[in-house]
Amino acid sequence: VAQVVVIVGAGQAGGQAAAALRHEQFAGRIVVLGEEAHPPYQRPPLSKALLLGKTQAADTAWRPPAFYADNSIELRLGARADRIDREAAEIALEDGTRIPYDHLVLATGTRPRRIDVPGAGDRRILYLRTLDDSARLAAEIGSARRVVVVGGGFIGLEVAASARQLGCAVTVVEALPRLMARSVAKATSAAFRTLHETEGTRIELSTAVKRFESSETGLDVVTGAGTIEADLVLVGIGAEANDELATAAGLATARGILVDEQCRTADPRIFAVGDCAVVTDEAGFGVRLESVQNAVDQGRAVAAAIAGREPAPLPVPWFWSDQYGAKLQIAGLAGADDDEIVRGDPGSGRFSVFRYSGNTLRGVDSVSSTSDHMVARRLLGSGISPDPRLIADPRTDLKKLVAMVARPS
Ligand SMILES: Cc1cc2nc3c(=O)[nH]c(=O)nc-3n(C[C@H](O)[C@H](O)[C@H](O)COP(=O)(O)OP(=O)(O)OC[C@H]3O[C@@H](n4cnc5c(N)ncnc54)[C@H](O)[C@@H]3O)c2cc1C
Repeated sequence: VAQVVVIVGAGQAGGQAAAALRHEQFAGRIVVLGEEAHPPYQRPPLSKALLLGKTQAADTAWRPPAFYADNSIELRLGARADRIDREAAEIALEDGTRIPYDHLVLATGTRPRRIDVPGAGDRRILYLRTLDDSARLAAEIGSARRVVVVGGGFIGLEVAASARQLGCAVTVVEALPRLMARSVAKATSAAFRTLHETEGTRIELSTAVKRFESSETGLDVVTGAGTIEADLVLVGIGAEANDELATAAGLATARGILVDEQCRTADPRIFAVGDCAVVTDEAGFGVRLESVQNAVDQGRAVAAAIAGREPAPLPVPWFWSDQYGAKLQIAGLAGADDDEIVRGDPGSGRFSVFRYSGNTLRGVDSVSSTSDHMVARRLLGSGISPDPRLIADPRTDLKKLVAMVARPS
């Protein structure tokens, strides 16, 4: 009897899991349930090219429309999964339909964290996660003169750069003392602050929003440091995992669905992948990543696991963000207090920051230095940390270094 895999979530990870199952020669039935009206699409352009009008919504499609039928993937759109019945091994949709499964893959992603202050329900306050959110934001930015971005993380800064390039006056309000503080080195934060300020954006750090108030001429964003008047506010203060289905079904969750390195929950039939999954190691340390790379690699890993093949070990995490002309690429997972070794001149717009904990290389931020980023991924992937003094020495040729490290002994 052919097996049935049901995938909840028609996003980057869900689509990848379905495609990878066929790649693994899985011959059973694959059903992908997507709450949104759109087939799987890529979210990175939503805050960048799409807002700038450099690409169209149709170009964000993850695969051509015929891909699903060609690969016998049943894509059900506008279909929200409501409940998992683990005893019957069935998933119940909001419309009452029940679909039995042999394996269930939860790929439900995240939703934007809402700001919880007085006045937050104003219709001029927007969030960005979906294609529909991006279309609305693009339409409203078109008629806005003054944009306030709450949150100096990736999405906030990308939208700030887009709004500025569209001619808006832009202010970014960030509660922490530096930009992208959870993810990048201090030197990287400082360089991006300079970049945005040079482009004419006001950056307010260590500043929290207290409330929003409607005025005669706009929307007042009241912060601890004063009031900023806006026509439009974009809130980008992080994301929350869509883990309610799993929680209600009695699976372990902690700001995401807990899985092992092969994306398995404690129920052998149920897996979780992508932004909604927290990979927990044997010591109980959990990591939830929000990146295209992670969604793609976990989609492949889960397909291998379902096909009964030992999945390849998960690769080094990496991520990118485009702001103005600067391409930020991050490899590995470093801590906020790790030591920083800067190579290149941040003032030139091309540099990398190697982040060490003691003598262990944990992560590298590269700005418009893709060759450094590739070297970083190889170094981190090999688990070998070059002596920090070598990295600090500008005469060290990184490509030669990695060739030496990679050479079999
Ligand atoms: C604006 C923006 C810009 C980004 N830029 C970058 C970038 O430059 N680089 C990078 O690496 N990453 C970027 N990311 C992150 C990246 O897009 C995500 O990590 C990736 O989309 C995660 O894929 P996913 O499949 O886990 O989640 P998603 O792509 O969010 O897909 C989850 C899907 O599941 C659906 N769903 C949820 N619950 C249910 C349910 N009960 N029933 C049915 N369907 C359900 C949701 O509607 C959604 O469509 C960006 C994200 C955003 C929002």
